[in-house]
Amino acid sequence: MSTSSGEEQKPQRKELILRVMEARQKDVGRGKVRIDIDLLSQIDVSPGDVVEIEGTRKTAAIAWPLSPEDATGEKDIIRMDGITRKNAGVSIGDKVIVRKALVKPANMVKLAPSNFSITVDPGFISYVKKRLKEFPLVEGDTVLIPVLGQAIPFTVVQVKPAGIVLVNDETIINISDKPVEPSRYPRVTYEDIGGMKNIIEKVRELVELPLRHPELFKRLGIEPPKGILLYGPPGVGKTLLAKAIANETDAYFTSINGPEIMSKFYGESEQRLREIFEDAKKHAPAIIFIDEIDAIAPKRDEVIGEVERRVVAQLLTLMDGLENRGNVIVIAATNRPSAVDPALRRPGRFDREIEIPLPDKQGRLEILQIHTRNMPLSKDVDLEKLADMTHGYTGADLAALVREAAMNALRRYLPKIDLNQDKIPPEILESMEVKMEDFINAFKE
Ligand code: ADP
Repeated sequence: MSTSSGEEQKPQRKELILRVMEARQKDVGRGKVRIDIDLLSQIDVSPGDVVEIEGTRKTAAIAWPLSPEDATGEKDIIRMDGITRKNAGVSIGDKVIVRKALVKPANMVKLAPSNFSITVDPGFISYVKKRLKEFPLVEGDTVLIPVLGQAIPFTVVQVKPAGIVLVNDETIINISDKPVEPSRYPRVTYEDIGGMKNIIEKVRELVELPLRHPELFKRLGIEPPKGILLYGPPGVGKTLLAKAIANETDAYFTSINGPEIMSKFYGESEQRLREIFEDAKKHAPAIIFIDEIDAIAPKRDEVIGEVERRVVAQLLTLMDGLENRGNVIVIAATNRPSAVDPALRRPGRFDREIEIPLPDKQGRLEILQIHTRNMPLSKDVDLEKLADMTHGYTGADLAALVREAAMNALRRYLPKIDLNQDKIPPEILESMEVKMEDFINAFKE
């Protein structure tokens, strides 16, 4: 690893221009990017070195060669996960510039949780330090720290010296207990959704392109879509998908729940709808997510009340009132597409429909991988076998199965733990694993 001792960056560092692609599941959250090995050597980078990645922001990551699966594909690509894309300010398909990084050892790194307040004690600081060791950091980056099986996002508020730094044993880590600023964006990335590769492609084309490059549509004289209807059984990831799109495009995200707007805001439903559309327009580019739209806009012949009629009419007016600029997109979800008022499915309204089916075996495997990503799994855990056994499960069912397996593991350890102790001894914590039997027992329940 090169350490620059104060001398200025050499001009003319060799560069690559690469197209961003998503990371493979095994690399997510590891601060790794993958680049063709021959291209790496063109910029004097060896596997394991740190590269600087420049999109609309600059960030850094450790470079590894492409995996064998990519041997026959395009060469001019860089695979990176959602956090690295966010740190570089790019989306899938964008171009980034990659150079060998000038890396310095970190004297000080200051972090703050991105979303929630947390309790910081010396034990936590040393844990974070261990997790971040040899991890390249740049001011403004987001890093994920696994805490109790969940990846918690932290913002790198400051690093000393400035630039790209690596944490080592001497680095002073400073963690504030309050978030820097409350985050508007749901931090869901495309890699957090399993079994939906083709659907993600399709939705990205429909939503991401007009949100990010409305000029393309204007130039060609085509109207970007205003509304998209996602349909499929509950728990297959429709909400997750809408959040991921908002996050990956840095669009403002606001959501309404059909039944809630009809009951909780009863009498004010139309007013509430208008406010939500106003708020979205003010913060454009924006995505409005309407969950269970069939509750707001059932087929009018199914409707009894005058209220429902008026709310549907209001929604139609609001959809028609959105300008054709593509910068506010409404994504609605339902598990009963046939129950949605056909007037809402006409051109200029929800005129694109995308089915989100139950995941197949490969999809279930990906979903299991995602939900066990931050879990210490014992070697005997066979996710393929679990994917085989869980025919008919939705993503939500699989997430519940994983949670239940972890609870089963916890119950195995409880007798060994003295809960009267203030802190669970680290040796016990580190020895804890979730075993195949924990999954099988969860499956049987
Ligand atoms: P829907 O909107 O289709 O009812 P959600 O997106 O609310 O489903 O899914 C609920 C939860 O189930 C998610 O937060 C996630 O934990 C899990 N889940 C569902 N589908 C998937 C998927 N395809 N990949 C990963 N997790 C999923």
